[in-house]
Amino acid sequence: MIDVIIIGCGAAGLMAAITAKKSDKNLNVTILEINSSPGKKILKTGNGKCNLTNLDLSSDKYYSYSDKKDDFLNTLFNEFDEKDTLEFFESIGVCTENKDNYVYPKAMQAGVVVNALFSEALLLGVKCNFNEDVKSITKNNDNGNDKFVITTGNNSYFADKLLISTGTKAGLSKNEIHNFEINDYIKKNHKFYDLVPSLCGLNINKNGNEEFLKKVKGVRTKAKLIIVINNKKIDFTDNRNTGELQLTDYGLSGIVVFQISSVVAKHIKSEKVNVNIDFLPDLLIEEVLMSIKKFDYIEKRNITDILSAFLNVNLSMALISLYGKRINKNISVNSKNLGFGELEKIILFVKNVSLNIHSLNNYDKAQVMKGGIDIESIGKNMESKNEKNLFFAGEIIDIDGICGGYNLQFAWTSGYVAGRNIADDKD
Ligand SMILES: Cc1cc2nc3c(=O)[nH]c(=O)nc-3n(C[C@H](O)[C@H](O)[C@H](O)COP(=O)(O)OP(=O)(O)OC[C@H]3O[C@@H](n4cnc5c(N)ncnc54)[C@H](O)[C@@H]3O)c2cc1C
Repeated sequence: MIDVIIIGCGAAGLMAAITAKKSDKNLNVTILEINSSPGKKILKTGNGKCNLTNLDLSSDKYYSYSDKKDDFLNTLFNEFDEKDTLEFFESIGVCTENKDNYVYPKAMQAGVVVNALFSEALLLGVKCNFNEDVKSITKNNDNGNDKFVITTGNNSYFADKLLISTGTKAGLSKNEIHNFEINDYIKKNHKFYDLVPSLCGLNINKNGNEEFLKKVKGVRTKAKLIIVINNKKIDFTDNRNTGELQLTDYGLSGIVVFQISSVVAKHIKSEKVNVNIDFLPDLLIEEVLMSIKKFDYIEKRNITDILSAFLNVNLSMALISLYGKRINKNISVNSKNLGFGELEKIILFVKNVSLNIHSLNNYDKAQVMKGGIDIESIGKNMESKNEKNLFFAGEIIDIDGICGGYNLQFAWTSGYVAGRNIADDKD
């Protein structure tokens, strides 16, 4: 009998175990999980509702350090895509609800997804050992057969095939964090990009911006964000960088920020990263000026009143102060009769406010980590190219998706492909 060990009873590990057992019922599949119950991270997803996939699936919804990403993902999605996800969940008793392509369980409860996956695994005969904290992996040679020796705090396990699907510490609080020592084992034989928070807010460089951040805290407004890396602008071909921006005392948050945070995460360590914000993304400068020209008694209105025809009042005041500060001119929120030349400059500023990014939020505030095992060290069957019978799946791989069900879809897809190949590959 072939012994298969899967480390991690999360989204990818459960999918891999189910798929391997369904493909070959003679496999002896055991999942080792440090927590006392399955799918703890899944329970946190989609605000507890679990956005389990997205019907607008394509490889450009994902980021990676590798330029082979599209080819890698397209091959995997050919084997298991969003339609397969729907079919799979229906087959294990989870009916789904489509909300503008974002798919949830009909019950709108992540617990339903976890229960269904766990029950299916148990029904198929998968063993799940909880409170097992894998600390090290070694190899021994048993009569010419290489075996993995997996050591936890309590036991040692032997495996012919090993799947590592341990995810990352994104979204975990300090007391939920455990050792990720096995990443050191992976790093010995595989290129591994440092794990950094992504799908999270951005901390603005406070220097010179303290007043601005204090004044705008709590404002939500539509905006378009352009990332500028060492003076080179990065725009997006889709609209992922336009949407509701949440301004906080540390900087920028909201889905629109999450969607572009991976690009910031990639460059922030070694390059200067700014975000240029257009606070009036639906209006051209000429359109704003044309509207202003129609205001009665324009010369008697103060600049805050004029700007707040288009923008939140607190934001208008904060932007006027920041503008005055940046150009070193005595323009206050009560300034009147500035003239159209100055008004035009202010509108131009409002459409292109450049803020320097200091860092990303901490891992506990992030939904995923960017980085992990280089996809070029992994075959399209999810087996390591460097170590036979060692497989990977899920977020530990250097693939991170935007918000909207894409990260779980990658966990289902990579788990499925790993499970199939663990069962199919008989050597
Ligand atoms: C707040 C939040 C909301 C999210 N919302 C969504 C969403 O709505 N849609 C979406 O697509 N994605 C969402 N995500 C991302 C998604 O949850 C992850 O990308 C996905 O769960 C990754 O699956 P995985 O199996 O790789 O890792 P996990 O689901 O994290 O599973 C890994 C498992 O391995 C275990 N483990 C780790 N190390 C060891 C060890 N040494 N020994 C034993 N066990 C170990 C862990 O305890 C864990 O149970 C969200 C994430 C967060 C934090």
